[in-house]
Amino acid sequence: MSIVVMKFGGTSVADADKIRAAARRAITTQRQGHQVVMVVSAMGDTTDRLLDLAGQISKDPPKRELDQLLATGEQVTISLMAMALEEMGAKAISFTAGQIGMVTDDIHTKARIKTIDVRRIRQQLDERRIVIVAGFQGVTEEGAVTTLGRGGSNVSLVAIAAALRADVCENYTDVDGIYTADPRIVPNARKIDRVSYDEMLELASLGAAVLQNRAVEFAKKYNVPIHVRSSLNNSKGTMIVAETESMERIVVSGAALKDSLARVTLRNVPDRPGVAARIFHTIATARMVVDDIIQTTAENKTATVSFTIDLADLTDARKVVERICKDLGCTALFEDHLARVSAVGVGMRVHTGVAERMFSALAKAGINIQNITTSEIKISCLIDRSQGRQALRLVHDAFGLGRKPAKARGKTGRRK
Ligand code: ADP
Ligand code: ASP
Ligand code: MG
Repeated sequence: MSIVVMKFGGTSVADADKIRAAARRAITTQRQGHQVVMVVSAMGDTTDRLLDLAGQISKDPPKRELDQLLATGEQVTISLMAMALEEMGAKAISFTAGQIGMVTDDIHTKARIKTIDVRRIRQQLDERRIVIVAGFQGVTEEGAVTTLGRGGSNVSLVAIAAALRADVCENYTDVDGIYTADPRIVPNARKIDRVSYDEMLELASLGAAVLQNRAVEFAKKYNVPIHVRSSLNNSKGTMIVAETESMERIVVSGAALKDSLARVTLRNVPDRPGVAARIFHTIATARMVVDDIIQTTAENKTATVSFTIDLADLTDARKVVERICKDLGCTALFEDHLARVSAVGVGMRVHTGVAERMFSALAKAGINIQNITTSEIKISCLIDRSQGRQALRLVHDAFGLGRKPAKARGKTGRRK
């Protein structure tokens, strides 16, 4: 019998009616002859509210306790979902991550899954139960509750689908699929039918919060196609799949905005071998992901080193960087008002002129680019957060992503 794993995000389980609607969908799928696993998020904005509550108690809550708190959100949903299913006459059982052996490392708030023991899930499926698993959470070998980072239920979905070798992996959310840009910011964004793992990985990392990047990483590694679709209708959504040759015909597939970035600048850093290694080793040990590293050297044997981080990591970064500065005798500057706008497409590997088009669009609107980063399939510009949304719309338009897809896509110009 085929296995379908379906994940319902926060908005898709925000109240009792929505929980019932999700339960009905699971029952319909089961009646079509499938075994069904549901992965659910916390209801509505529960996770944000819990975070806010923690913030009222402590400026810098212990991460272990934060995880203990945040994981409660998903536990509410699993039990309500099981009740809804039973109420409708289906057999159902809910599990926390600990109960199904979803073991992670001990990096609280950003834990990574190490192993999943799916025996218990299989047993319950074989007894014709619909199995509901709490997304976003895990458990360490020592039994501490962990969470997988914001949007982490997507990771739970893909990990469970991979471990069960599921036939279908569906992500039900509040949009019809993956769009060429966040439809909440770009009204004329267009739904994409298929997108490659690599493009989705870039889009997710660069701000398309519809999927967490680690979920895409996992999906690529285990070759699990993800179907992103709406929980409000039955329309076909977007398939995230391995790249095919025809995908390269499209130069830019999407644009994204990450609007919660901070920059750390260290000045008067001694300019000698090993210093950069030491700085970034200390930062890596604190589990911070850094981007856009720039080092410039002055004549007086000192250097300026800057890098960007997630705004959420700024408090941790301050602690670490202030310690480094004490050791090295440098000074630090922290900025918390940055954003990054990006264009992504596997076609950039073979087409040209993308950078020029993007920079011109931003320049025409007087948007100052503070830094540029590129990879084979993306170009990103660091800008002021106040101009982020406007920049996203401009970049989206510059590549004709919304209105005239057939014509604007695939054009070539000069190399980037
Ligand atoms: P869920 O609660 O289902 O996990 P999220 O709120 O985490 O849903 O993600 C869905 C939201 O992601 C959408 O409402 C949309 O505003 C946003 N989003 C950002 N970029 C994109 C994109 N490229 N395509 C679709 N949605 C996007
Ligand atoms: N509830 C968590 C969050 O809001 C996890 C998720 O929804 O994927 O980030
Ligand atoms: Mg989400």
